[in-house]
Amino acid sequence: MAAHRRPEIPFSDAPRATCRWCGDSILYASGPRAGKPDARRRWHPECVDAYNQSDPREARRRVRRRDRGRCADCGLDTYALRRKLRGRGSHRKLRALGFQPRKSLWELDHIVPLVDGGSHDASNLQTLCKPCHTRKSARETAERAGRKRAEAELRILERADTLLADSERILAGLEQP
Ligand SMILES: [Zn+2]
Ligand SMILES: [Zn+2]
Repeated sequence: MAAHRRPEIPFSDAPRATCRWCGDSILYASGPRAGKPDARRRWHPECVDAYNQSDPREARRRVRRRDRGRCADCGLDTYALRRKLRGRGSHRKLRALGFQPRKSLWELDHIVPLVDGGSHDASNLQTLCKPCHTRKSARETAERAGRKRAEAELRILERADTLLADSERILAGLEQP
């Protein structure tokens, strides 16, 4: 899936002492050569972070380390649930609870959805168990549809206002002696 591919490195052909991510020069920050190009480096350290954070798989790894599979909404420990439900009948039980047994019991959620301008930044990412994530996604889809409807209605009202103003102007013109 394209969304899971690593992003392109914009300046991959840059010579040493030029950052392959941002294209700026990399200079010695201190010491006797402060301000001179640092030919040992090809990346700014902060640009390595930016590159790692731009990878959706890395985002999932970071959230797993941080949250350990615990749902931010209902508090369920999905790893504990997986350990508890093993063996015979476990898949049936998981399905009854709203999980897909062959997949991870938790999902990576963008608190502000990407379509609404949310980012891959850690502060915008949370762990949700599958049922909570399904609920949140359904709610967001309904909210988006509601917003679209409201915008469409507003456009119709504005158009009706314009038509009314036009006809009033025409009528006023006709009434002139
Ligand atoms: Zn850089
Ligand atoms: Zn949950």
